[in-house]
Amino acid sequence: MRALVWNGINKLTVESVDDPKILNSHDAIVKVTRTAACGSDLHLLAGYVPTMRAGDVIGHEFIGEIVEVGSGVTKRKVGDRVAVSSFISCGKCFYCRTEQYSLCDNTDPNPDIPEALWGAAPGGCFGYSHALGGWAGSHAEYIRVPHIDVGSFVIPDGVSDDRAVFASDAAPTGWMGADLAGVKPGDVVVVWGAGAVGQMAARASMLLGAERVIVIDRFDYRLRQVRDVIGAETLDYTKTSVLAELKELTGGRGPDVCIEAVGMEAHSARPDFAYDMVKQQLRMQTDRPTAVREAIMACRKGGSVFVLGVFGGLVDKFPLGAVMNKGLTLRGAQVHGPRYIPMLLERMQRGELVTEHFATHVMPLEEAPRGYELFKHKQDDCVRPVFVP
Ligand SMILES: [Zn+2]
Ligand SMILES: [Zn+2]
Repeated sequence: MRALVWNGINKLTVESVDDPKILNSHDAIVKVTRTAACGSDLHLLAGYVPTMRAGDVIGHEFIGEIVEVGSGVTKRKVGDRVAVSSFISCGKCFYCRTEQYSLCDNTDPNPDIPEALWGAAPGGCFGYSHALGGWAGSHAEYIRVPHIDVGSFVIPDGVSDDRAVFASDAAPTGWMGADLAGVKPGDVVVVWGAGAVGQMAARASMLLGAERVIVIDRFDYRLRQVRDVIGAETLDYTKTSVLAELKELTGGRGPDVCIEAVGMEAHSARPDFAYDMVKQQLRMQTDRPTAVREAIMACRKGGSVFVLGVFGGLVDKFPLGAVMNKGLTLRGAQVHGPRYIPMLLERMQRGELVTEHFATHVMPLEEAPRGYELFKHKQDDCVRPVFVP
């Protein structure tokens, strides 16, 4: 079959690779019908995620049709049109039973690396390095999906492919940020980052009853989508002082909930951005926490900060004093897909949640390297490239 293969930093090629096979009774083979590039995939391209190997197939956001199931599969059948959770969950361990699916104890066969880095291993993720399991990704004609009964959900009739594909990763990630940050009716919520995940966090906050939702970014075309499609307010951080503006907007108090949807390759107009760039280039820190810092500084006393952006390791000049002295709640997580995907698919069917506007560039899989170029360099107003194998 054909697949998009990572062959080194900024080296992506579409190649012929072996077809996936059923290896365990709970596996299924899914014929991929849509697969989206995620902002966190850009960190793979840039070489910020260790334990990638030449030949790895990337991609973790996808929908498809089940073409083969193992003997132990009971809830899904051949022919089902499904959205598949980007993180893989066994459904049986302590973490899966408590709906913390991305913390699954049984789906990363290489836990040593994350244990050394973070003290424990989260679950495995499709196409996202050998530290997160070494699973083949979805930018391919077919993919092996372990624990298909746990991690896949039948897409309701009437939900288009271009809408449903984002139920796999972007929509549940955004929803989880708003949910676990504790957004409640009347809150003022600020989201850093107007990519698909940031837009979904904003939409989730609105549906959870937030009174005002403000999204911060520097790209006009993304902020326009926030206003026109999501219905939230926007701030361009290159044109204003974010901290002063947020104080002003909240009567001097600061937002109740701050959601960071940017991750380790953050940009900023502030001087600490240059500091982060230098330290990251010198490998003295792994990530650029510019947006996290700003979210912590902006948040009201007693408020909540949620980190949705992907980070790998250690950062410098972290405002720990602000977390403690302002009484903040600081959380983060990889997406607990199965907890949210069925509800999100229903909302997609009812039209409460629209996502197809993210799919600005739908193209054949053979053109995926070009899609990643557009996405990485934010050319041609690219929000997300979506590949059709
Ligand atoms: Zn993702
Ligand atoms: Zn589990």
